[in-house]
Amino acid sequence: MEKIYQIAIDGPAGSGKSTIAKALAKELDIDYIDTGAMYRAFGYKIREKGIDMHNPAELRELLDSTDIDFDHGKTLLDGTDVSGLIRTPEVSMLASDCSAIAEVRQKLVKLQQAMGETKSVVMDGRDIGTVVFPNAQYKFFLTASSEERARRRFAELTAKGEKTTFEEVLEDMVKRDTQDTTRKVTPLRKADDALEVDTTSMNIEQVTDFILSRIG
Ligand code: C5P
Repeated sequence: MEKIYQIAIDGPAGSGKSTIAKALAKELDIDYIDTGAMYRAFGYKIREKGIDMHNPAELRELLDSTDIDFDHGKTLLDGTDVSGLIRTPEVSMLASDCSAIAEVRQKLVKLQQAMGETKSVVMDGRDIGTVVFPNAQYKFFLTASSEERARRRFAELTAKGEKTTFEEVLEDMVKRDTQDTTRKVTPLRKADDALEVDTTSMNIEQVTDFILSRIG
């Protein structure tokens, strides 16, 4: 029987996680799980339903009636494809806000663990190497300067027709990073046994090749 393995890719926004994780999944022919999309989908649902995420009863009810899954790279929220709706700056902040709540993390982490239990996966996020799969065979922590990360995110958003400025993107990113690294519940941090890769002056192919060379 083929051995199941997990590749954990963590790091701040714009460090290249999802681009690299997708390339690795394709190269290795394994599934890619975008855990950020799960927090985004839940943040989106909170807004759609007009829920107060800090009201424990409302939040519990919403969590109990929410299903998040993936199908061929699409993010399914309760069976509906929301991939095109969850990449806006507003949903990014909502994702970061709701991801700081312990109950939300408990539910999503459980779903993520189940997704990587029976098949090999490459999973990207903020807590994959520390919490979701602390025993993952391969762990990487991607970083890049905040200006470079904002430049990448700005290019991504303008390519999709979002009206924004570089300064706005940089400001949002710094705010989200601060929130993600200082929250009480499992803040973003490098796992002790993760390999840190500074991607500031590397292109996608260079990072992918470097990681593939480590996986061997
Ligand atoms: O990776 P992405 O930018 O799509 O993630 C959106 C937000 O979801 C992050 O800013 C972070 O607050 C949260 N997140 C998290 N844990 C993960 C993945 C994402 O807290 N594993």
